[in-house]
Amino acid sequence: MELIRIRGVEKQYKNGVTAICNLDLSIKKGDFVFIIGSSGSGKSTLIKLLHREEKPNKGRIIIGGIDVAKLKNKKVYKLRRKLGVVFQDFKLLPRMTVYENVAFALEIFGLSKDEIRKKTIKALELVGLKNKVKQFPDQLSGGEQQRVAIARAIVNGPKLLLCDEPTGNLDPDTSFGIMKVLEVINKMGTTVVMATHDKEIVDKMKKRVILLEDGKLIKDYEKGTYSHEVA
Ligand code: ADP
Repeated sequence: MELIRIRGVEKQYKNGVTAICNLDLSIKKGDFVFIIGSSGSGKSTLIKLLHREEKPNKGRIIIGGIDVAKLKNKKVYKLRRKLGVVFQDFKLLPRMTVYENVAFALEIFGLSKDEIRKKTIKALELVGLKNKVKQFPDQLSGGEQQRVAIARAIVNGPKLLLCDEPTGNLDPDTSFGIMKVLEVINKMGTTVVMATHDKEIVDKMKKRVILLEDGKLIKDYEKGTYSHEVA
């Protein structure tokens, strides 16, 4: 079943740069998809369009039945409830503990304290950080901070996890640890869309690979590698 349907999407920024050009793309529920391409090819823009940080100038983006481009600003929460986002720079709140950073993401849902605690601990367990609940972000390694960010993104059990260069600030070993976590989350049923230019990871994972160039979809391989696609 299709989770994401993109048809004829164009994104032009106010400075006239066309970052995404006539894009058609379908992503099935449960898929793990890499978005690759050189710097400036439109990877980040595509991720931003999917969580409505940016709006397309043309075309349609449907996620789980929600018409993302048409969604009114005050209804964006309906989309955001269905997805989690992970960034290269973690974006944790420095004055909150690990536990609070994750629990905070649940506050808008009106759950009881007990439910919040259960979900938060479960998410932190999944990323292997249950023993660090009381630490602050600056007391953690980069890999651990990214795990907290992943726990925060999935704590409400979203259908879709968007990742924008999640391993961009991490060394190779730590990056593979992060990929293992993302793979487990994917196997549990969450669709993962990850923008990256980390060759080693893409080659090792053998997932669907979508190559962008100048905002256009150039290649789409079911079990792709980076080296084959980017000459
Ligand atoms: P990537 O993630 O592949 O590096 P981006 O999506 O960040 O690519 O950028 C695609 C193109 O859009 C680039 O030419 C970039 O300079 C431009 N761009 C990105 N964000 C903005 C913005 N907020 N305003 C204007 N141009 C932008």
